[in-house]
Amino acid sequence: MQSIIVLGNGQLSRMLRQAGELLGIMVYPVNFNSDLNHIPISNSVIIAEIEYWPKNSVIENLRHHISFINRHIFPLIVDRLEQKKMLNSLKMSTVPWQALSNRHDWPNIFDVLGESVIVKSRFGGYDGHSQWHVNPQKTHEIPDLCYGKCIVERKVNFIKEVSIIGARNKEGETVFYPLTNNLHEKGILLISSTVPQVNPFYQKQAENMLKIIMQTLNYIGVMTMECFITSEGLLINELAPRVHNSGHWTQNGASISQFELHLRSVLNLALPSPIVFGYSVMINLIGILINFEWFKQPILHLHWYNKKVIKGRKVGHLNLHDYNQSRLKTALNSLISQFPVDYSNAIKWATANISCIKNREDSMQY
Ligand code: AMP
Repeated sequence: MQSIIVLGNGQLSRMLRQAGELLGIMVYPVNFNSDLNHIPISNSVIIAEIEYWPKNSVIENLRHHISFINRHIFPLIVDRLEQKKMLNSLKMSTVPWQALSNRHDWPNIFDVLGESVIVKSRFGGYDGHSQWHVNPQKTHEIPDLCYGKCIVERKVNFIKEVSIIGARNKEGETVFYPLTNNLHEKGILLISSTVPQVNPFYQKQAENMLKIIMQTLNYIGVMTMECFITSEGLLINELAPRVHNSGHWTQNGASISQFELHLRSVLNLALPSPIVFGYSVMINLIGILINFEWFKQPILHLHWYNKKVIKGRKVGHLNLHDYNQSRLKTALNSLISQFPVDYSNAIKWATANISCIKNREDSMQY
């Protein structure tokens, strides 16, 4: 049996393991406490569910291992500064940015980027953590330790936030899912929606960009590119060299999930283009308990991570999927009263997204 070790043992590893079970592939999530004695390291392929790891002997051992796929790429992507430099060297449009070296940089930063900016840690920030929204009156709020360790980005007035998920194998073949629309709340993804007939212009552009990035890096596996659609076109926000929260809908809305696609590409198994069955919505369960009333919806799938429910923590997600738009809309509508009130607008947003695509012209509207 083929086996895969995943660095990190959170929900992404858990779902990779679940996808592996169906394919007869053993997936071993590991963290820094794991006992590696019972894991067949020499016969396994090593991948990662997170980009930034604490320094630790278990992790270091696996990180430099010859079987760790993409090990040459992680240092580039894990550092936002290096990632942006790499993207710009490939002539990819990113959100305008600057390095933050010291406090004297601020006047120049505001001149170049405008007065509303976001400071982001070069390493380890995710879900809006280690990010500060700054204007000229607030620079004193930036902790000293940020200087030299952060970048600054223009705060973009985007029309939509989208992501594209693609995969590449050893032979250089690539496949992609349709663009996913994403809605974040305080930096955390709350809800995603996908329709089969996405805007062909942005789809093609995003596929071309991600393809060039994966080819240039000689990357193998699933990669996610998060973007903003702005009046200036598609701007890359960031890359994730792995499966991604915005691709969770593929578990129920596509013939091959992103988790299976990742396993297939790193093991060099067949990599056909996933077929997308219809309209999908993914709702992140953030700090909320399971409500068994949800199960009255026949098109709803719960994916629960078996974590302690803590405020602000992702503990599971719901996938709703149907080829029939109005049935999906009815199901979404019935969820509004079963969710905390702060989800209402997000659920309405997803309903509007799946409703507005009636024909090709409509789909061009964003
Ligand atoms: P990140 O961790 O960089 O993906 O940021 C989390 C979320 O914050 C993004 O998905 C956006 O919703 C928002 N965000 C991040 N960077 C920017 C930016 N430069 N301009 C506007 N919103 C942003």
